[in-house]
Amino acid sequence: MSEQTSGDGAGFAGLELRSELLRALTSLGYEEPTPIQREAIPPLLAGHDLLGQAATGTGKTAAFALPLLQGLDRKTGGTGPSALVLVPTRELAEQVSQAVHRYGRDLGVRVLPVYGGQPIGRQLQALQRGVDVVVGTPGRVLDHIGRATLELGDVRTVVLDEADEMLDMGFAEDIEAILAETPGERQTVLFSATMPPRIDSIARRHLREPVRIQMGRQESAPGEIPLVRQSAYVVPRAHKSAALARVLDVEAPTAAIVFCRTREEVDQVTETLNGRGYRAEALHGGMSQDQRDRVMGRLRAGATELLVATDVAARGLDVEQLTHVVNYNVPSAPEAYVHRIGRVGRAGREGAAITLAEPRENRMLKAIERLTRQRITLESVPTVTDLRARRMELTRAAIQGSLGDDDLERFRVVIESLTDEADLERVALAAVKLAHEAAGGDVDEEEIPAVAPPREAPSRDARRSEPYRGQGKGRPGGDTGATRLFFGLGRRAGLRPQDLVGAIAGESGLSARDIGAIQITDRFSLVEVPESAAEMVIAAMQQATIRGRRPTVRRERYSR
Ligand code: AMP
Repeated sequence: MSEQTSGDGAGFAGLELRSELLRALTSLGYEEPTPIQREAIPPLLAGHDLLGQAATGTGKTAAFALPLLQGLDRKTGGTGPSALVLVPTRELAEQVSQAVHRYGRDLGVRVLPVYGGQPIGRQLQALQRGVDVVVGTPGRVLDHIGRATLELGDVRTVVLDEADEMLDMGFAEDIEAILAETPGERQTVLFSATMPPRIDSIARRHLREPVRIQMGRQESAPGEIPLVRQSAYVVPRAHKSAALARVLDVEAPTAAIVFCRTREEVDQVTETLNGRGYRAEALHGGMSQDQRDRVMGRLRAGATELLVATDVAARGLDVEQLTHVVNYNVPSAPEAYVHRIGRVGRAGREGAAITLAEPRENRMLKAIERLTRQRITLESVPTVTDLRARRMELTRAAIQGSLGDDDLERFRVVIESLTDEADLERVALAAVKLAHEAAGGDVDEEEIPAVAPPREAPSRDARRSEPYRGQGKGRPGGDTGATRLFFGLGRRAGLRPQDLVGAIAGESGLSARDIGAIQITDRFSLVEVPESAAEMVIAAMQQATIRGRRPTVRRERYSR
């Protein structure tokens, strides 16, 4: 293993970030910048506008948040924010504002998420007290501007995050109106997973000589990608560690490496896996070379079956016997994926690469497929029934293996005494039951909710001439057919189509493009979603608030 490992966030040192930010990154367990961070941070610190093509999962939030925090200079007097981040959904508003809060911890940054569905009173109080960074959905930000509760005259940086999603949700006009309220000499940053002409036109009008960054463009040379079985599981964030454990149960790797993003994640995943009976060991840049060598030694000797590591710690690591590479997250750049999976399937051996992706990271999977020109098969997380069948099979195989043992005769006395009271088959059944229980027994777990598989979508500009419609007339999901969901909220509550799209996309991870026709009446609304995603959307909406209410959400009773 090579010596390059950088400990304490040192990989960030070359970026000239202030010490408070470096400290925060270290405490979060970030070991080195992701490619987008390496490329975007220097020009942003130098004050340039930036147009970045990057999807969720690349680390783009820190790429814009760190420079924005670096320039933060707490004003006395005014209460208006010095930075505004516009995002398409409430989920992202919360996520980004938590990220800004974490990175800016030692700067005492005041950040406020602002989105529809949350009582406006709480937002008003915070705005009155003064905030440094506002992260909001366009609709609610515009609401505040209209009420004169949000003053954007001091804004120095505006970030449009996931700009293509915002346009898909019909926020184009809102964005224009908001930008018109900010100073002309502001710095403008635009991130988008795709770059259709509509994004280009916004960039041309609102960005000044932007630095352009595109992630994952080069294709890899044939032969660079090993021939391994590549699969992915799309899992909601809250269920990831359970899903990982199940996938490993079913895959039963001989020796695997599980890649995580941060040290914290490494520790947490190691603990989960050990709790499940695996022999897993952590490997990260915070460990000494000596410690790491010992871990590697145990893996080579077969005393450890799973290595849980960050990229930095695993760099240069060469283990012949690896059978599986598992990405606990989609890697931050497609090139990193290729690099990681290069560790299995060596010398014609069989290998598997497994990736866990959150619903929002589908696009990164597509980018990887484009780069590698290989398919990643989407699999369903093993169900409780699958796990039970697998455990039963293990019990059967263990007993079968024991049939060849030469010391079985000594147990005959037990069989003979028991067959006085029960027939032989029943005695065998009882023995199997005990063996099964001794090996861990039945699975006592809850089902992990299935997430609708993503589909290829046509180019964004080829559709959407009618807003708020999926691709076909009311046929979202293409192949699977659509179904209508009833939402007990309508025009009287001030409901707009983008509120529904935002809530559904934010809560369930369904892409805006998968949502079909929306019909809003005075008291209720009907929304078309792919049939395969209906139950998942209903489950996700149980905790959701839309325009401050928690509406009933169910299948439409009289739908086809
Ligand atoms: P994003 O693409 O901004 O949604 O970030 C994806 C995930 O990567 C988030 O969970 C971040 O906390 C994490 N992350 C961002 N930058 C780094 C880094 N340099 N090292 C490790 N994790 C990171």
